[in-house]
Amino acid sequence: MREVTVHALRVGRCFHPQAMTIEGGSWRPAAFPALSMLLIHPAEGPVLYDTGYDPAFFRATAPFPERLYRVATPAEIPPGEELAAQLRRLGIAPDDVRHLILSHFHADHIAGAHLFPRAAIHCARAGLTAARAGGRFSRVRHGILSALIPSDIDSRARYFEDGMRVPLPADLAPFDSGVDLLGDGSMLAVELPGHCPGHWGLFVRDAAAGPHLMVGDAAWSCEAIEQNRPPPPLATFLLGDTARTRSTLAKLHDLHRRNGDIRLTPCHCPRRAAEAEKPA
Ligand SMILES: [Zn+2]
Repeated sequence: MREVTVHALRVGRCFHPQAMTIEGGSWRPAAFPALSMLLIHPAEGPVLYDTGYDPAFFRATAPFPERLYRVATPAEIPPGEELAAQLRRLGIAPDDVRHLILSHFHADHIAGAHLFPRAAIHCARAGLTAARAGGRFSRVRHGILSALIPSDIDSRARYFEDGMRVPLPADLAPFDSGVDLLGDGSMLAVELPGHCPGHWGLFVRDAAAGPHLMVGDAAWSCEAIEQNRPPPPLATFLLGDTARTRSTLAKLHDLHRRNGDIRLTPCHCPRRAAEAEKPA
């Protein structure tokens, strides 16, 4: 399997009671970072898995009812953490990014999608279809801000559902099949159902850290996977499917127990964010 280089970038954070993210957690609001994963492919250059927050998020949540999103889940982007600025400091221009992979369509994962007009957008058709369903209130309740979905996404989308199905390496058991996004085996999308319609992780072999499965919002923290502690049903029911969320978390827990060498990265994990490179 072709190796890539992985950099975790912290791009903003939200505040949320921990108890909504893990059974038995505290009800005091805690900061949950948003990670954008920068993957350097030897031929394709920089590829992003999710974007984190972006100033566009605050513009999109200025009107009512979209403002309710900001009220329910306050967010901020600390100085220096804007994705465009972090990429610039790494010598990467927006047009250098030719592939943007979206785990799902929640606003904190796609807010920076507009920054990359030349990128193919790898995403789930099921996620996009669900993001376009219902009225404004319903979309906001499901974590969707329509203004953040690129208006030309239909012509740039490469749907996971249409991609080349491949068996996954044995060290990813119990997950057994994925989608080869670039056709060279370097980036394999793995469906992780439950959090919301069309929710996918991404498996790569990191030249430095070895096998790495980015799990999006299938868990809010590494601890949740290690201890198999899902969010309370209230939280998972609001956004997605509680039974499938729990089944996916149990499989991730099983994977962690079988293969302690595999790196698992939930998008909002405080531990993974603490390990991420500090913005310069
Ligand atoms: Zn989400």
